Amino acid sequence: MSLIVQKFGGTSVADAGKVLAAARRAVDAKRQGHQVVVVVSARGRKTDELISAAAEITSHPSPREMDMLLATGEQESVALMAMAVRELGEEAISLTGAQIGIVTDSSHTKARIQNISTERIRAALVSGHIVIAAGFQGVDDAFNITTLGRGGSDTTATALAAVLQAGECEIYTDVDGVFTTDPRIVPEARKIGRLSYDEMLELASLGAGVMHSRSIEFAKKYQVRLRVRPSGSDGEGTLITPDADAQAPVVTGVALVRQTARVTLSELPDRPGVMSRIFSRMADRKIAIDMVVQDVGSGGLAEVSFTIPEEDLAETLTAAGQAVEDLGAGRVHHGTNVSKVSVVGAGMRTHTGVAAQMFGTLAAADINIGMVTTSEIKISVLVDRTEGAAAVRIIHNGYSLGDEHAAAPAVGWDCPSSESTSSTTARSELEQDVVSQLAAMEDIVVSEVELDTDQARVTITNLPDRPGTAAAIFTAVAEGGLMVDMIVQNVSHSGQANLSFTVPRNDLESCLLLVREVIAGWDGADLSFDRDIAKLSVLGIGLRSHTGVGKRTFAALAEAHINIQMINTSEIRTSAVIAAEHGQAALQRLLQTFGLVHE
Ligand code: ADP
Ligand code: ASP
Ligand code: MG
Repeated sequence: MSLIVQKFGGTSVADAGKVLAAARRAVDAKRQGHQVVVVVSARGRKTDELISAAAEITSHPSPREMDMLLATGEQESVALMAMAVRELGEEAISLTGAQIGIVTDSSHTKARIQNISTERIRAALVSGHIVIAAGFQGVDDAFNITTLGRGGSDTTATALAAVLQAGECEIYTDVDGVFTTDPRIVPEARKIGRLSYDEMLELASLGAGVMHSRSIEFAKKYQVRLRVRPSGSDGEGTLITPDADAQAPVVTGVALVRQTARVTLSELPDRPGVMSRIFSRMADRKIAIDMVVQDVGSGGLAEVSFTIPEEDLAETLTAAGQAVEDLGAGRVHHGTNVSKVSVVGAGMRTHTGVAAQMFGTLAAADINIGMVTTSEIKISVLVDRTEGAAAVRIIHNGYSLGDEHAAAPAVGWDCPSSESTSSTTARSELEQDVVSQLAAMEDIVVSEVELDTDQARVTITNLPDRPGTAAAIFTAVAEGGLMVDMIVQNVSHSGQANLSFTVPRNDLESCLLLVREVIAGWDGADLSFDRDIAKLSVLGIGLRSHTGVGKRTFAALAEAHINIQMINTSEIRTSAVIAAEHGQAALQRLLQTFGLVHE
């Protein structure tokens, strides 16, 4: 007999008929011999209604009272669901987050789970009950009700599946599974049969609202077998697994964060410790910063830009102001009318030309790119908000993701992977080791620190800030068969943009030739390079949203007086480019910082 967790989202329990249909699934699973834990969200648009009710009274609701209010939505659902199960002839017990023993930290409205006690659930299951657990909520040490952030019921479900060692966690929702992009934006989007935790983690954190990104962190950390399924039919849904589907297209999906804001700190001193100061100011306020773009400093000054959720803008500006004050130099600017569009795919690890095609498609549609950042398996760009949805549609169709077997990008080709299966296995074992030492369920898992000393950096300054610029460069580079790794393009000033990227050192000469030819026609564009760089990467789970990782990484480098030239972040990797001569020292520092000193 195995244990199954079934989670039903708001639309899947919106009316009595749907509650009964969901209850029927739980009852069927029980009668097939499983122990069943059901996690339920608030019904329909209940959470939105509660937020509006608060807004009618105050524009500054206390976060504690907000959680008290929002948690009622899920309480209503569990009671009704338990009644429905009983109506269908099985025993059921509904439990709130507090009654289950979901203990969180005290960050109201975005709390993190620290611990779950399983005794009460186990006892109820053993006595033959279906357990109906309220999603999205917990309690802190002082018994204040907390909530886990919008969409957080997914996280309750995977966290319960993790601690109960469930055979499977099924996420029932209003679509057939995980699609190549939001089917509400692109009707031709196709359901994905299978994808990896890493791909889902990136997609979810980059805006694919179908899953709460922290739920995938749990799934990955504790190897929960996860399936996203339609509640309205018997579809197989999408399976989320440790490894990517080897047959899958190079690009898995496209995601959109419609409302994001950009903050830029310019005229910063270009010396060790500056990034550390900025990142700690942000981390202290638990601001999850994204799309960090830091470029090679010029004239002794550095500049960093990043995006943040729009609702965190005021707080971020305060924190940025403090950082500038601490540093005694720098200016803060921001921009709000932007959206972030990202493509994700494990195939990018080995396939060249993905970025070239994305930039080319945008250029053909006359959409300008404000900022670019990449990681191993994703590329994100910032575009004007009025063009966000159109950009998603165009990129999705540009890669033909609606086709069952989408072809690889038109430019570039597949380079055999240097990463052997055994190293992937070693990594997952290492991850398991780290997980077993966690004190709290949502602790950060840093599984590895990598040093790459085989790359060189190319920087182009004073680029024309218009559609087609990045496309021209990366198409030339991809057509030359070169694998580009980190790409960083910062926000433009007075019509000019700067772009940096890394390539294998052995390919530097050919890359410079190709780029020189492209930029020859652009007045003022200037090419420079650095052969002697090292790229350091911290790998793990949920790195971007666990604000402390950047803080610790940059603090460790600052203590060692190591200057940072370029930064890239994603949910699964934080990378920094530093001078080659500091590579080994930086690696040792970071291994120590994250307790990964190998014997
Ligand atoms: P639930 O209430 O079941 O948790 P959500 O509204 O949170 O449902 O998530 C389902 C919605 O996510 C879908 O209706 C869809 O519009 C949206 N969505 C965004 N990106 C994707 C994607 N890549 N695949 C599937 N759905 C997506
Ligand atoms: N009811 C919460 C929300 O609407 C949690 C969830 O649905 O997952 O965000
Ligand atoms: Mg949801």
